[in-house]
This record gives sequence, C-alpha cells and structure tokens, in this order.
Amino acid sequence: MNEVIKLTDENNNIHKSLIDSFDSEPGYYYQVIRSMLTPGHETELIYWLKSFGLIPNTQICNNAKVNEDCNKVMEWIPVKTIDYYQWKCKNCCEKKSIRENSVFQDVRCNFKNSIRILLGWCKGYDVDTMANILGVKKQTVKVMYSVVAATARKHLKSNQTNKKIGGPGVIVIIDTYPEGCTNSARPIQANRPILCIAEVKNIPPTYWFEALNRHNRNNQDQIQAIKDHVLKVIKDVVLPGSILVTRQDSTFCSYFDFQSLRHLYPTVVSVEGLERHNSENQNIFPNLEVIWKLALNVCEEAQFFGYDQVPNFLISQMWHSRFGSEAFEMLLNRLTDMQ
Ligand SMILES: [Zn+2]
Repeated sequence: MNEVIKLTDENNNIHKSLIDSFDSEPGYYYQVIRSMLTPGHETELIYWLKSFGLIPNTQICNNAKVNEDCNKVMEWIPVKTIDYYQWKCKNCCEKKSIRENSVFQDVRCNFKNSIRILLGWCKGYDVDTMANILGVKKQTVKVMYSVVAATARKHLKSNQTNKKIGGPGVIVIIDTYPEGCTNSARPIQANRPILCIAEVKNIPPTYWFEALNRHNRNNQDQIQAIKDHVLKVIKDVVLPGSILVTRQDSTFCSYFDFQSLRHLYPTVVSVEGLERHNSENQNIFPNLEVIWKLALNVCEEAQFFGYDQVPNFLISQMWHSRFGSEAFEMLLNRLTDMQ
C-alpha cells in the first residue's frame, strides 16, 4: 500500500512527440486538463483531481476501528514518490496512499499518464497503442481500462440516466454479427461474435453492442448458452413495451427465441413481417441497411482487437456515440461516483 515508486517514470524523449500529439485533443481536455500535464504542474494536477473528486478529499486511518484516537481526518503530507503526497494519521503515523478508494488505486503510473489513459479509452485506442504512446506497461493500461469500462457500462445501463434502449411502441431491431445485420460478406466465424441492438427512433440510431462467446457450430450447449446470454442482455438494456424486430432464421436471436419475452415485449415482429408496422415516423424497412451500416463498422473494427479486449472496445464505442464531444468530461464525472 505504501510502496514507494521512484520519481523516474516521467516520459522520456522517445514518447514525447507522440504524447504532444495525443495531448492536442481539443475540447474539455485541451481547455481544462492540458496545462496541468506540462512539466512543473504535477502538484496542480493532483490538487485538481482532489477537488474534482477523482481522488478522495479526506481519509480516515485504517486503525480507527480499533483505536478511537485514530478516528480523525488524516493529514495530507508531501512525499518523494510519483504521487507527491500521502495521507498520514496524526495519532499513529499510519500512512495511506492518496489513490486509495479511487479509480487510480491499482494503476501503476503517474497521474498525468493515468488521465491520458482515460482519454485514450474514450477515443477507442487499444491497449497496445495506448501503452506505446505513453511508454507504460500494457498491464497498467489494462487495469485502468477495465475500471473505466465497468463504470461506463454501469452508467449506460442505469435507469436514472434514461440511457436504455427503446420504450413503449419504439421499434428495436436485434441481430448478431457476423451472421446478420444485413452483412452481405457474411464470414462464417468472427474472432468474436457481437449482439447488435438498434433503437431506430432517431438517425443515427442508438445502439447497444455486446460481445458474445465464440462457439462451435455443432455444439448445441454452447449455442444455447449464447441464446440465454442474448435474452439476458435484452432484458437488461431494452425497455419493456418496445417492439422487437428480428430475423426468423437467426441462430442466436430468432423470432422464435423471443417468444419467451412476450410478457415484457408483447409485440415481436420478424424482419419479414415488418412492413405492417411501418408508419410515417418509423418507416424502417427500406432503411435496414443504413441502420446496420454503422453497427457493421463497429463490429468489423472490433475484430482487430484481442478477444478479451472486445467488450471494452464496444463500451467505449457506445460511450462515444452517446456523449460525442462531451464523452471525456462525462467519463470524469461518472468516475467520481466511485467514492
Ligand atoms: Zn492512526
């Protein structure tokens, strides 16, 4: 916990130009963060993280449970580590990292690079690229990415934020990649299959992407497990009362498979039967290819990522498509909820 990390993990020249270019990201990052990433502004950044709520503003000594005298706000003291500060108990002198109970708790790099990793996640950079730009270990990026993805996923699925898909009378189209999504190229196997859910109330549609497990086409148990996963995701992210649309012959999410969800979604329609539900506001049948085009781009790009990285990439894509130019700022705000 109190491990001292030497003050030598500043970025060397090899990475300097890469980082300069990375740091030129416009918007909130440029306006608020960038100046704090320049040499000499390390402590300014740490104070900002503290006031913003990305690291805790106060800490209580771990011995407070056994020693009443320790039950006071700890002291903020300077130290010669990459964190520059530490918490110290005024009673027993026990120390605590300023990262404890924050998103940076298990991340092994300085705060400047930690912030850059957050931006990299928002921009959909894979772990290797991000580690290369910053000259940090892949594991460092992975740890930060998985914390971020978990927070973003939770937020995207939460009811309060109204970020779920569909709603009463709203058409929601469901298919899987690579089999469907009007994928004319139709490779038989993908590195990682993906469930694609599209709410077509607006253009561009709102999507939900979920990575599915690879399967053997002759293994019925594996196929059934994927079908169960698909139904669970739909119940999780698609609001009740939505009109579900799917292909009759889909392997993982057929018209037949959705009959078990009728209590939540009374109207299930096959793509083939879709024309009856067309209206002036929702004339989607001729637009099916347009609706899936963006989804196909995301699914195809996801195939370049390692198997384990695909879920993370899909969440960053959804995050970016929901929040656009505010994605980074929004992410920082959500990460403060962890405390
Ligand atoms: Zn103490």
